[in-house]
Amino acid sequence: MKALGLNQIRTKFLHFFGDNEHLVHPSYPLVPQNDKSLLLINAGMVPLKEYFAGVLTPPAPRMATCQKCIRTNDIENVGMTSRHASFFEMLGNFSFGDYFKTRAIDLAWRFVTEELEIPKDKLWVTVYHEDDEAYDIWHKEQHVPEERIVRLGKEDNFWEIGSGSGPCGPCSEIYFDRGAEYACDNPDCKPGCDCDRYVEFWNLVFTQFEQKDGQYLPLAKPNIDTGMGLERVACLMQDVESIFDIDVMMAIRTQVAKFAGKEYGVIVKDDVSIRKITDHIRAVTFLVTDGVTPNNEGRGYVLRRLLRRAARHGRLLGIKDNFLAELADVVIDIFKEAYPELSERRDYTKKVIALEEERFAKTIDQGLVILDEYIKEMETKKEDTLSGKLAFKLYDTYGFPLDLTLEILTEKDLKVDEKVFEEEMIAQRTRARNASEIKGWEDNTLDLTEYKTEFVGYDATYADVKIVALIQNGKLVDEVDNKEECMILLDKTPFYAESGGQVGDSGLIQSGGTKAIVYDTQKDLTPSFFHHAKLESGKLKVGAQACAAVDMATRRNTMRNHTATHLLHKALRDELGDHIAQAGSLVHPDKLRFDFNHFKALTAEEIKNIENAVNQKIFSGQVVETQIKSIDEAKSMGAMALFGEKYGDVVRVVGIGDYSLELCGGTHCHDVAEIGSFKIVSENGVSAGVRRIEAITGPAVLAELNAALDLIGETETVLKAKRDTINHKIKQLLAKQQEMSAELAKLKQLAANDAGADLLDKAKEINGVKVVVGEFEAQDSETLRNLGDQLIQAEGAVLALLANKNEGRINFVCMANESATKNGVHCGKLIKEIAKICGGGGGGRPNMAEAGAKNADKLPEAIEKLYQLINKI
Ligand code: ATP
Ligand code: MG
Repeated sequence: MKALGLNQIRTKFLHFFGDNEHLVHPSYPLVPQNDKSLLLINAGMVPLKEYFAGVLTPPAPRMATCQKCIRTNDIENVGMTSRHASFFEMLGNFSFGDYFKTRAIDLAWRFVTEELEIPKDKLWVTVYHEDDEAYDIWHKEQHVPEERIVRLGKEDNFWEIGSGSGPCGPCSEIYFDRGAEYACDNPDCKPGCDCDRYVEFWNLVFTQFEQKDGQYLPLAKPNIDTGMGLERVACLMQDVESIFDIDVMMAIRTQVAKFAGKEYGVIVKDDVSIRKITDHIRAVTFLVTDGVTPNNEGRGYVLRRLLRRAARHGRLLGIKDNFLAELADVVIDIFKEAYPELSERRDYTKKVIALEEERFAKTIDQGLVILDEYIKEMETKKEDTLSGKLAFKLYDTYGFPLDLTLEILTEKDLKVDEKVFEEEMIAQRTRARNASEIKGWEDNTLDLTEYKTEFVGYDATYADVKIVALIQNGKLVDEVDNKEECMILLDKTPFYAESGGQVGDSGLIQSGGTKAIVYDTQKDLTPSFFHHAKLESGKLKVGAQACAAVDMATRRNTMRNHTATHLLHKALRDELGDHIAQAGSLVHPDKLRFDFNHFKALTAEEIKNIENAVNQKIFSGQVVETQIKSIDEAKSMGAMALFGEKYGDVVRVVGIGDYSLELCGGTHCHDVAEIGSFKIVSENGVSAGVRRIEAITGPAVLAELNAALDLIGETETVLKAKRDTINHKIKQLLAKQQEMSAELAKLKQLAANDAGADLLDKAKEINGVKVVVGEFEAQDSETLRNLGDQLIQAEGAVLALLANKNEGRINFVCMANESATKNGVHCGKLIKEIAKICGGGGGGRPNMAEAGAKNADKLPEAIEKLYQLINKI
């Protein structure tokens, strides 16, 4: 058996299956395309699901891939076991209703024994215990001795989705025997045992059934889906202990150790950290390359977590500087031949990583200090569980991830109330959801396919139409009465329905004497257009003729903002670079919002340049042209399309001279000059690597300008200044105010000091202690504390009790000097008793204590109690 490198094994696999008439396809991206059911690809067959299910026709009946996979479930295992990585590569061959068991087993066996040259006496196989067919193929056709074929139950060797329906079938696995030195004590140790001796490395799934109502029905065209972990095979071939010792991992591992100035294999704890970093940087580099950016939701959070864990383990190893971006270079160099996208996006990937690591460094420093305080408090209170609210606060306010909190607490044998944390998290999500408008018609259960609406609104803003359906409270109705709300469906409409970021049109639908005010327009996939409306007068009837008129003023503003969005997109690319890609957009009559991928805040100069570029285009005028093209034609013209968006075969292309060309279904000005003018009103970050610009156009710019001028005018009047002296005047006033505040504070303290002298005069001497009592109204506590400090400077033993009444409530400050405490005075104990009388509580040290209570009327009683208590010391 040759010690093949990981890259060599991958090539051998793909060549072998290519030679055996498989279409070899490059790995699909880690981010699932058009599949919302999972965050990240976790097996070779996942991106091919629609081919297996028969929804789409595969490009070939047999395929083979080496698929990038991420398994978030395995993150906790990483560094702890010898065989788990968070990112790994899965080799797989697939048959869509083509070959089945016999050939699948033959191919696998030939690849393992002839290509990889693994000695047959080191190999074992398992089959599903009822699958005699597979057993016979292994034994009779491939001559695997019976003692090395193990039958396993459903748990190990039957593949099905948990839901109780869908395709499923038995599996057969190939195992490698690493030898007796890896065995456990169990005399019955064989494949299926959890110890390290027999390693499963290839799983062949024979999808031959369809599960329905608890029954397994045979599929007419059964499929083959296999998965082999590339790192695990390399581990066996190279005869090393763990996947972290194989060639490619070792290259990364060595670099990590070098950064840390440590040697691998010396200290167990360090080795775990080195392995985690080695794994995580691979996952991070591949994730960022595939377009994931760090944030607090979904796959962005998986990335953030992996990156931050790597950074933290770097700290544990004593690495002082940021190092992950540099480490990404190592990963890119090792894998760039198999995954060219790595070197294509090298600069971008490194920037995203560097930025997040920097951000984390700040977060972690701040978070660690706070968590440390929490831990100290837990230790004093002898608690072992951190409250979920505090953990959430750390996460939400300071960006300190929960898993880090958990990790640090676990190291100290402490834990977190994760249930409460989870509740807080859910509550926050609900808040966020409520805050964002939810539009559209979400519980549409009616079949509306017959009401297909023709859209005529690119050229017209009104049309003679027919009412084809009316919907009220989720039901189709024949007519709608005066003043009621409903959704109107027409045969054709000039109303634009919300899509592509542009909001739906508003306007009027008039039928006979009936007026319906349309306040929003939405559509479904049919497309049926839903005009959300309220009747102002009369009745609406299905079948009636009507006139539909879009509110022109509003629509014109929307068009200005949409065309301006295209100009902005282009100007951003010109100013900041070609990496700018649209990440989200809102086109509204009042404003436009544009989200895009960029790593840092825009400078004032960049913003000005972008704004100028857009305005220059507007001022010089340019006709906006739309064309209908095939998607291929549009792409070859260089039209910008959205990353990850699904387009039909025929698309609409919106062009502005040779300046901008985008795929877009929205409504636009006929000439950019109609936009009038353009003004950026804000620029900020929405998540790591994503910036947001909000801007206004046309009349809104004028309104903004007038409002600003009005404000300046009012300020001039109030300040009795001219526009060019306003600033100067305000600075003067602020300086003056500062001076006065300082003066006032001084005066307050003097007044308090005077009061202090008075209080000392009136002090009672009990048991050798001067007892000073002062009553105040709405005084600030800082001043009282200062006064207390001053009072206890007096000679002899002094105890001061200062009570501050405020709206029926009362606060106490109690202070004593050293000779008083030596005499037995204990402020903490005294205040507890006193506050109790006023319906409150508190405590503190012998020389200083504070308390709050709700019943200020009881103060005389409380003072009496104080005298009594001092009497008893
Ligand atoms: P295990 O029980 O070891 O976690 P699994 O049963 O989850 O493995 P499968 O879902 O059958 O594995 O995946 C197919 C192959 O992918 C496995 O045989 C293995 O070689 C590889 N594999 C699975 N998980 C990982 C991982 N976390 N790291 C590296 N390789 C993996
Ligand atoms: Mg697993």
